[in-house]
Amino acid sequence: MFTAQQYVKAATLEEAWQLNQKRSTTLLAGGCWLRLTRRRVGTLVDLSGLGLDTIEETESEFSLGAMVTLRQLETSEALNGAFGGLFKEMTRHIVGVQFRNCATLGGSIAARFGFSDLLCALLALDCEVELFKAGRMPLEQYAKMPADRDILVRIFVKKNGRRPVYQTMRNAETDLPVLAVAASEKDGQVRVVVGARPARAEVVNAPLALAADKAALEAFQAAMQSQLTFAGNMRGSEEYRRHLANVLTGRCLAALQEG
Ligand SMILES: Cc1cc2nc3c(=O)[nH]c(=O)nc-3n(C[C@H](O)[C@H](O)[C@H](O)COP(=O)(O)OP(=O)(O)OC[C@H]3O[C@@H](n4cnc5c(N)ncnc54)[C@H](O)[C@@H]3O)c2cc1C
Repeated sequence: MFTAQQYVKAATLEEAWQLNQKRSTTLLAGGCWLRLTRRRVGTLVDLSGLGLDTIEETESEFSLGAMVTLRQLETSEALNGAFGGLFKEMTRHIVGVQFRNCATLGGSIAARFGFSDLLCALLALDCEVELFKAGRMPLEQYAKMPADRDILVRIFVKKNGRRPVYQTMRNAETDLPVLAVAASEKDGQVRVVVGARPARAEVVNAPLALAADKAALEAFQAAMQSQLTFAGNMRGSEEYRRHLANVLTGRCLAALQEG
């Protein structure tokens, strides 16, 4: 459990950002991860009073506040209707409902955990993040950045007809994934993202057509295997993860081809 010398419920993003420029400050979202740490925090800045807990929809995109909970994502009919149930699929294995009522989108994405289901799945969609000072940038760019002291404010998800699917392998129903693969199709081309390798989720930079046959899929898998790093840990060996990446990629492509 962490301890904090001072607690501040931020009234504005500017106040939260100013306080967070000190290295001894820590931002508090759902607190589900933080509570497991042994940090000695100077100032704990609570983001829950900033109105960042809304899911908004326009004609062209969804805007998801950083304090939206995993449960809000899981149960949103608008999001799940627009993206084939992806938001339910990427959250439903995470611990349990009570936990998902606390843990947030912002805490999940800002922490950029290698095992993150959310980061892997959202990279398959066309998303941008909004940081309080740095402004909007593609999620893929943000995912590659090292941790900094800016504040993740919202995530924008484009409604552009991209069709996603998401597959994970877990040793037990609510454990962290051993490996995760998200894929999406738009205009006949498929984007594949592989996470929990156990390194951070990454987009595969090789072409894959929706109509790919067995040989084309194998060529894609060979490119994926040489681009991405895989490693072993207590959940699975490097060799097992490489095998799973091929299996789950094949399943994702088959699911997209079936429509
Ligand atoms: C036991 C356990 C099992 C888990 N299993 C899974 C799993 O299977 N799959 C999965 O994807 N995830 C899993 N998670 C991670 C979980 O889903 C959340 O990602 C995690 O709890 C962080 O969200 P939070 O709201 O609790 O953030 P917090 O714990 O409050 O914060 C986490 C970190 O992010 C920073 N932060 C929070 N919000 C912002 C912001 N808006 N801008 C900048 N920085 C910010 C905080 O300062 C802190 O460093 C698990 C977590 C736990 C504790």
